[in-house]
Amino acid sequence: TPLKNNQVYMRALFDYIPLEDKATPCQEAGLPFKRGDILQVVTQDDPTWWQAKRVGDSNLRAGLIPSKQFQERRLAYRMKMGTLPNPKSPKKSLCKPLVFCFFFLPICGLTVAGLRRSFRLSRKDRQGSSGEGSDPGESEFLTYEEVTRYQQRPNERPRLVVLIGSLGARINELKQRVIAENPHRYAVAVPHTTRPKKPHEKDGVEYHFVTKQQFDADVLNNKFIEHGEYKENQYGTSIEAIRSVQAKNKMCIVDVQPEALKRLRTSEFKPYVIFVKPRVPESRRRRSAATSPGGDLQEMRQSAIQIDQQYGHLVDRVLIKEDSASACAELRGILERLERESFWVPISWVR
Ligand code: 5GP
Repeated sequence: TPLKNNQVYMRALFDYIPLEDKATPCQEAGLPFKRGDILQVVTQDDPTWWQAKRVGDSNLRAGLIPSKQFQERRLAYRMKMGTLPNPKSPKKSLCKPLVFCFFFLPICGLTVAGLRRSFRLSRKDRQGSSGEGSDPGESEFLTYEEVTRYQQRPNERPRLVVLIGSLGARINELKQRVIAENPHRYAVAVPHTTRPKKPHEKDGVEYHFVTKQQFDADVLNNKFIEHGEYKENQYGTSIEAIRSVQAKNKMCIVDVQPEALKRLRTSEFKPYVIFVKPRVPESRRRRSAATSPGGDLQEMRQSAIQIDQQYGHLVDRVLIKEDSASACAELRGILERLERESFWVPISWVR
């Protein structure tokens, strides 16, 4: 369904449990949500508590969520103190929760002056907070990111598909397999390397073969989205290599270290980020924990947790990899939907 004009949608970049929020004026009126949920913000009139609904919920009633500014302010405080803040309400707010539940919620759109006084940000605080629609990868605090529906039009360049994977996910193999099945639609970005060309290889097909000097210059000029060394040779994928795939109207699939995400998250590429995690059956995990604590399986699990914590907010889709064939089929399905359906993207990508 098309979005109505002037409606504000936010992707939540954190989990929110109103029952654990000591600052809320009314815990029962809070709207719980999880990182990644899309929230329709019904009113932002109050600077501290917004009213929102979760997209996809059948519940018609809006609930309270902390505003972006307030959440940022709390996080800034927590960062400074190393603890969660407990913004004790001032004396006059004693009966506020009840009043709020009775009068405020049924009448969406009203603001509560008392609340404003209790939690209003000073001008200085507000200036210090990052603006709406800013890249959450760049922003210091993960709160919300304003989003909108986006569907790729036939004449537009295909979105970039970015695979990131935790230990054991073997995303390169997955990528190669999906591309081999459908090379007219999907392609890799041809990497650069300083290693010598093998007889069967062609420049510009397997790799762009360049001198060490050229490679170093390209690194300095920020041409690569990522680069690394293998057996004393340099390898890297350039921004231009992605563009040249897209210029052929093919969907470019890259597999990168998650650090590259920040670089790729632009309106030009509109990346769709898939996080591939290998499934480790619970029984195997328990056996392994008992027999070899800190072993391979633990490492795999740890790697997935770490990526999820650090980059989870930039991920559009998690793909649990059972085996190669089923993961490949699932990825194929995702890629097909990406061309047909609309998806939530940061509003700054389409403005
Ligand atoms: P080969 O020289 O056998 O073609 O590739 C050897 C290794 O180079 C690969 O297994 C991979 O680890 C690394 N490699 C290939 N392409 C890239 C790339 O684009 N970036 C990085 N960082 N490493 C690459």
